[in-house]
Amino acid sequence: MSERPTTPVQDAMPTTRGLNFFLEDPNLEFVCSSVLDAAALERARPHLVALGALAGDELEALAAQADRHGPVLRPFDECGRRVDEIVFHPAYREMERLAFGRFGLAAMSHRDGVLGWPGRVPHVVKYALSYLFSQSEFGLLCPVNMTDSSARMLRRHGSAELQARYVPRLTTTDPAELWQGTQWMTEKTGGSDAGAAVTVARRDADGTWRLWGDKWFCSNANCDLALTLARPEGAPAGTRGLAMFLVPKRLPDGTKNAWVINRLKDKLGSRSMATGEVTYQGAVGYLIGELGRGFKQMMEMVNGSRLSNAMRAAGIMRRCVLESLTHARGRAAFGSALADLPLLRAGLVEMLLDAEAAASVVLHGAALFDGADAGRAEDARLLRVWTPIAKGWITARARWVASEAMNVRAGNGYTEEWPNARLLRDSYLGAIWEGTTSIVALDVQRAVLKDGAFAPLAGFIGRRLETVGEPAAKPGADLVRTALAEIAERTLAWPRLPKPERELDARPVADTLYHALAASLLLAEGQQLRERSGDCRKLLAALLYVRRWLRPPAPLAPLFPPEALGWLDALADWTPVPAEALATA
Ligand SMILES: Cc1cc2nc3c(=O)[nH]c(=O)nc-3n(C[C@H](O)[C@H](O)[C@H](O)COP(=O)(O)OP(=O)(O)OC[C@H]3O[C@@H](n4cnc5c(N)ncnc54)[C@H](O)[C@@H]3O)c2cc1C
Repeated sequence: MSERPTTPVQDAMPTTRGLNFFLEDPNLEFVCSSVLDAAALERARPHLVALGALAGDELEALAAQADRHGPVLRPFDECGRRVDEIVFHPAYREMERLAFGRFGLAAMSHRDGVLGWPGRVPHVVKYALSYLFSQSEFGLLCPVNMTDSSARMLRRHGSAELQARYVPRLTTTDPAELWQGTQWMTEKTGGSDAGAAVTVARRDADGTWRLWGDKWFCSNANCDLALTLARPEGAPAGTRGLAMFLVPKRLPDGTKNAWVINRLKDKLGSRSMATGEVTYQGAVGYLIGELGRGFKQMMEMVNGSRLSNAMRAAGIMRRCVLESLTHARGRAAFGSALADLPLLRAGLVEMLLDAEAAASVVLHGAALFDGADAGRAEDARLLRVWTPIAKGWITARARWVASEAMNVRAGNGYTEEWPNARLLRDSYLGAIWEGTTSIVALDVQRAVLKDGAFAPLAGFIGRRLETVGEPAAKPGADLVRTALAEIAERTLAWPRLPKPERELDARPVADTLYHALAASLLLAEGQQLRERSGDCRKLLAALLYVRRWLRPPAPLAPLFPPEALGWLDALADWTPVPAEALATA
């Protein structure tokens, strides 16, 4: 029998496994350096390096396992008693220890000293760490964010007694002590029209509130504490009649509260995390804040969570870019690397620009959180409109980027052996929960019409554009100004437009606001980099972004000129780009 001939071994299937996702991403460090002071970045750096290494290796392996072996509902114990427990694969439990314990992601905004930080860890650092985490594990970041935001809500609106009882458990980094939080609003009647909710709150003679009704989408179904909306008997219809309640799984005497998990959802993505259907059967709820302000309070929390949502989508985008670059530069076809083939190259540049724009919008948004918490009213006003703008575009665009990344890996990308399929499945969720893309666009419109949000945002963007001194980048800044002027004109007309016409405007305006904001950040960062080191790499990215989104080419024209595509490797590797390159954009 003849022996099998030996063929030369080629690295036909390059993988990102073992790469440090932080060290591979100079853009992340650069954006952090533009929103954090040098000492804070220095302090954060070892943690970013450590999480970057985990994300490229151990965390990725755990995430793949937890995705394959999803949670299982255990409604009863061995004696037939109702327990409503969720059984997770050990990989998920290990990821919980990393997120809640080792890195303290849910605790760091509430306690001093997490990660050895003097005082509270800035939101920017929390977002940068979570951005790395999300590149491998998406599902668990929902419970992390819900726990974090439940603590924030309790600290803002809960009674002193409730705060003392629950905040320490929500914000501990000891997994054995931790109680996780969540927020459940959506009912069978619909998630967008929250005012149609029919869950009832009835007050007993002793003053105890008891909740009756069904919640249809309940993420982190294994939570210990749920913030929820219900309508006190006799309260008006619509959102005005909703109150917010804290519903614990166990009452202070240790008995199980009267709510059950009917079943878990069989989901497309975020499969590691448990989403259930819950029925309140007279569950004890503690009133949070004022009776008629439940919905407003919930929206305050959702607005914060929307930025976290955008961050997770931005993380997926970045991972997709890394996967695609690694694959396309390492694999050959027709005698050259895939990345040298013009059509593929154009796709890689487009993905890279989307991912960098998203990272800037998210991390600058996190900096506004820090400013708002420090009492800067201007930052709080900006945040009001920034988060729906960011959530709307980034979560919708992540679907395209993840899909494109699957195309780049092609056949292997379609199999579950590689991360692309999981990234694609996970990417679809961001644009649905916490407000669909249309709902957040309408929220942007509300922020402009009712809260006068356009003027501060236009002012912020204008100030970024003013910093752009590089002559070749000025036309890019002017295009952003033109887009802003057009939006100003459109939004000025809104009060006079009939409602259907006005609502049709919401998405194009929200999307264009996103591009104007993203472009202004990229241009200002580009100018910063130019001044620091003479490198025009980031200005080139900014100009290409402006070209892609604010000066769309004619239908038959290529998205990017071939000379600009020649800079892909420099863009990917952050090797210096000379000023002459800007003319190619
Ligand atoms: C995996 C998963 C986990 C979830 N976890 C939670 C959770 O923990 N807590 C929670 O409260 N909810 C949760 N949700 C629910 C989620 O927030 C809702 O699905 C979402 O808000 C949309 O509501 P809906 O599905 O009822 O769709 P609908 O509200 O019925 O919307 C259907 C379509 O109509 C469109 N639409 C609705 N109103 C308008 C309008 N005025 N103008 C234009 N278009 C409109 C929407 O954009 C959408 O395209 C989860 C959902 C999923 C998929």
